[in-house]
Amino acid sequence: MNKKLISVIVPCYCEEEALPYYWEEASRTADSMDYVDFEFLFIDDGSKDGTVNVLRRLAAADSRVRYISFSRNFGKEAAMYAGLKNAKGDYAVIMDADLQDPPSLLPEMLRFVEEEGYDCSATRRVTRKGEPPVRSLFARMFYRIMRRISKTDIVDGARDYRLMSRKMVDAILEVGEYNRFSKGIFGWVGFKTKWIEYENVERVSGETKWSFWKLLAYSIDGIVAFSTAPLLISSVTGILFCMISFIAIVVIIVRQLIWGGSAYGWPSMVCIVLMLSGIQLFAIGILGQYLSKTYLEVKKRPIYIVKETELDNPETSAVKSEGGGASNVISSPEAG
Ligand code: UDP
Ligand code: MG
Repeated sequence: MNKKLISVIVPCYCEEEALPYYWEEASRTADSMDYVDFEFLFIDDGSKDGTVNVLRRLAAADSRVRYISFSRNFGKEAAMYAGLKNAKGDYAVIMDADLQDPPSLLPEMLRFVEEEGYDCSATRRVTRKGEPPVRSLFARMFYRIMRRISKTDIVDGARDYRLMSRKMVDAILEVGEYNRFSKGIFGWVGFKTKWIEYENVERVSGETKWSFWKLLAYSIDGIVAFSTAPLLISSVTGILFCMISFIAIVVIIVRQLIWGGSAYGWPSMVCIVLMLSGIQLFAIGILGQYLSKTYLEVKKRPIYIVKETELDNPETSAVKSEGGGASNVISSPEAG
């Protein structure tokens, strides 16, 4: 019987220190699962350290290793897209390079998809141990808001670590949008998902690439990409204030007719003007968020640009010349 191929996609941004640990553990897991073939596809997301050198060495030493190196930092979303696009496997797994996604879960994840009829097995953290409390608080709030305002199922604590069938990978690639929010896209494409829960693990080495502000911006991206509720909120606020002002007009006219002399109350007038202009700017800001995303979307820029792959490297290209690899240098969603 032909063995199935699993593509393990590893986005790496400045992971020079963590990669040796990752490779030791991941290759051990791969060796122990001799009933499937493995392909490791590392995506160097424009790292500033020696990540690409480590990847060159790994690719030269082990024929299962492929890599794609970007021309600059395009973000983890772009790295995941590049990985899925270039994966050749019957199954694809996305895994962080810092061992926060334990490779030891792989056999279990594969079993659910191969034997129990799931299309995807995904992981979620049930604890946020070792994370700054403020970050956990905001993360929880984000998921709570998202569940209310978006029809797409976005699971609290879900990691990007998941094993997917080829059908699901192709479906995700069909979603060729530029502003990618994978946590939403995974839910949006549907398919039957098995959730595997585990306790948070701290990264082996190096530090997180996500600052608080980066995460906040990412969460706003997520909301704009998967919900139009903010637009509704600004319309409803507008209607509400029209109604209030109508009542106020009636009150003032009646007061003038009965008592006369209503030329007082300018401080309250200033407050009202300030508040209304604030609300107007807020609503325009929301509109602007959607407009800016639409602007980036219509430009149809490529999601990532490749600078180097293992095939550009004389030491490794001899071994792998039979496969096409990531030969397409520029990849835009419509080019696929
Ligand atoms: N990553 C990436 N591009 C980036 C930021 C991060 O490819 O711009 C990779 C990073 O190398 C790691 C994974 O995404 O493999 C998760 O990043 P990190 O561990 O910093 O995030 P956290 O686990 O703290 O959420
Ligand atoms: Mg991490």
